[in-house]
Amino acid sequence: MNYRHAFHAGNFADVMKHAVLARILTYLAEKPAPYRVIDTHAGAGVYDLAGPEAARTGEWRDGIGRLRAASLDDETRVLLTPYLDAVASFNTGDKLEKYPGSPAIARAMMRSQDRLVACELEPQASVALARSLGRDPRAKAIAIDGWTALTAYIPPKERRGLVLIDPPFEQPDEFSKLANGLEAAHRKWSTGIFMLWYPIKDDDAVNAFVRKLTRARIAKSLRLELHLATAKDENPGLRGSGLIVVNPPWTLYDEMTMLLPRLAKVLTRNDKTAATVEWLATEVSR
Ligand code: SAM
Repeated sequence: MNYRHAFHAGNFADVMKHAVLARILTYLAEKPAPYRVIDTHAGAGVYDLAGPEAARTGEWRDGIGRLRAASLDDETRVLLTPYLDAVASFNTGDKLEKYPGSPAIARAMMRSQDRLVACELEPQASVALARSLGRDPRAKAIAIDGWTALTAYIPPKERRGLVLIDPPFEQPDEFSKLANGLEAAHRKWSTGIFMLWYPIKDDDAVNAFVRKLTRARIAKSLRLELHLATAKDENPGLRGSGLIVVNPPWTLYDEMTMLLPRLAKVLTRNDKTAATVEWLATEVSR
C-alpha cells in the first residue's frame, strides 16, 4: 500500500466527491430518523495543507483553493454551503490550513443520533484517522480491509444511510473489485445509498466498469463525471473524477445537473471541461 491521500487531499476530485457526499448527508438529515455512514476506505481524516505531502504536489490549490476563492452564483453557493461549512469548521477565518477528508466531513455534518464507521487499513493513516475522530461516541475508526467491511457491516441497524467506497486505485483489478463489491453489497442492502469513486484516466477501463454495472441489474444508479482535460492533452494525469451513486436522493439528479458544470468551470486547468450527469439504464437480459 503506497498510496497516501495526504498528497491529493483537497484536489479537484476531492472537491467533487465531498460536495456530493455533503449533498447526500444533507438529504439524509431531512428526516429525524438516524442514519449511518460506512466509509470503507476512509484515509487519515484531516490533512495539513501546509504539510510536506500537500505542499509537494500543491494539488489542493487547483481544488478547494480555487473553489474557496471563486465568486459563486447564489444557486451554486446554496448547494455547496454544507460542504464549504464543513471545510470552514476545520479552519479559522479565511485561512485554509486543514482539509477534512470524507470521515471528517461526515462527522462534522452528523447529528447526535447518526453514526459513522470509518475503515482504513494503512497503519499510519489508520492511527491518524482514530486520532482525528477522537472520543466521539458517534464515530468508530476501524483498521480493517474495506472490501471485507463492505459486506460485513451492512445492512446497518439504522436501515438508512450511505456507504462510501473510495479505494486508492493502486491495483489493476480495482475497477472489478469495485463492481463486484457493489453487487455483493447491494444484494445484502438493496435500499442503501452507495457512492463509488473512480478515476478517469483510462476510458476503456471506465467504459468496461460502467457496462458491468449496467448488467448488474442494480436499479437507480446515477453516473456523475467531471472531465477537466481531454484524453489527447499532453501529460493529463488524472483527467477527471467519476462517481456512481446507487439509490441517490431524488433531489440529486437536478442538483448535479446544476452544480457539476459550474464546478467544472471553477476547477478547470485549461478551459476544457465537461460534466456528465446520467442515469445508468439497467440492462434487462431476456
Ligand atoms: N475517502 C477518503 C476521503 O475522501 O477523504 C480518501 C481515501 S483514499 C482515496 C483511499 C484510502 O484507502 C487510503 O488512505 C488507503 O490507505 C486506504 N486503503 C487502501 N487499501 C485499503 C483496504 N483494503 N481497506 C481499507 N483501506 C484501504
